[in-house]
Amino acid sequence: MKIHEYQGKEILRNFGVPVPRGYPAFTVQEAIEAAQKLGGPVWVVKAQIHAGGRGKGGGVKLARSIDEVKSLSEQILGMQLKTHQTGPEGQKVRRLLIEEGADIKKEYYVAAVTDRGTQRVAMMASSEGGMDIEEVAHATPEKILKVFVDPATGLTDAQAAELARGIGVPDGSVAQAVDVLKKLYQCYMATDASLAEINPLILEGNGNIKALDAKFNFDANALFRHPEIVAYRDLDEEDPAEIEASKFDLAYIQLDGNIGCLVNGAGLAMATMDTIKLFGGEPANFLDVGGGATAEKVTEAFKIMLKNPEVKAILVNIFGGIMRCDTIADGVIVASKAVGLKVPLVVRMKGTNEELGKKMLAESGLPIIAADTMAEAAQKVVAAVK
Ligand code: ADP
Ligand code: MG
Repeated sequence: MKIHEYQGKEILRNFGVPVPRGYPAFTVQEAIEAAQKLGGPVWVVKAQIHAGGRGKGGGVKLARSIDEVKSLSEQILGMQLKTHQTGPEGQKVRRLLIEEGADIKKEYYVAAVTDRGTQRVAMMASSEGGMDIEEVAHATPEKILKVFVDPATGLTDAQAAELARGIGVPDGSVAQAVDVLKKLYQCYMATDASLAEINPLILEGNGNIKALDAKFNFDANALFRHPEIVAYRDLDEEDPAEIEASKFDLAYIQLDGNIGCLVNGAGLAMATMDTIKLFGGEPANFLDVGGGATAEKVTEAFKIMLKNPEVKAILVNIFGGIMRCDTIADGVIVASKAVGLKVPLVVRMKGTNEELGKKMLAESGLPIIAADTMAEAAQKVVAAVK
């Protein structure tokens, strides 16, 4: 789950990381009031969307008067902000952050992320902070320093100092940078984040260290123990199909292709997408109906999949373990009739009650294309969209 910058800064502030003073605003009037409360002389008007690269896209602007705060807020609120992370259609700006302008002497990059290779939290830092960190990571990866944290000790002073000095924080500010890095680590652990990134972390003219941006991703599987983070959820920023799917406890992720996939089990779902690609097709979604799916759940899954206008054929790939093939067959038949299925449907099922499931599909009168192996199923569905 992602959150907005102003919410991320609230979390950082709670953990003692210095951030600029600022207030969220949902209207131009609220933006003006926020600016008045802050007092000048310089404000920054920042678009709040769940995507980075806002500065380059024109979503972060400096204002030198209340009038300018007003005109910039009018301009940014409601705009369709396009960044390298939003896709070509952009994302509509519905919230702003109005904050005090900082005196930036130097911009750094710091982040905490889970590193699968070492199975540890990696703390990363770079002297090349600001708006081009992806470019830095790509072209000059040696400019991104990393330390891996032992979970028993947490991030040590020595590790944090190694990063701070390594990115060129001046001597007088190293202690503050160490403090920020340690708090960032604590905050990452305590909130079950999968990414906590401050870009830029700045050195101010007076030598203070401050977080000017905040980006968090949280592990969705840990949200049950963080109601305070769930409260930050902004459904306007999420894909409507994915929201609908989460209501029915379905794991659904929309993709760019045209072959809808309905599968039980995340591993099988991924293997199914790989097999489709192997035979030259493109999956339209990832969809795991889970182990305990009912006919109702399968119907909902079908409806969500078919709301995507790109879907030109569907592949149902089921392994009947706890899930019985006849339950899926029942769901497929009910769903196909309920939604008036108009695209080709390929079904492959194996396992518990396979024969019964296949018999039900064959007798349903629906134009279902049966397949026995995954390769056969993928080839048939790829042929069906062509
Ligand atoms: P994004 O990463 O989405 O582009 P940021 O919050 O990092 O958005 O802002 C982009 C740039 O705008 C920063 O690198 C910084 O130079 C400038 N900036 C952001 N907030 C402030 C602020 N409060 N005061 C001064 N400059 C700022
Ligand atoms: Mg940034």
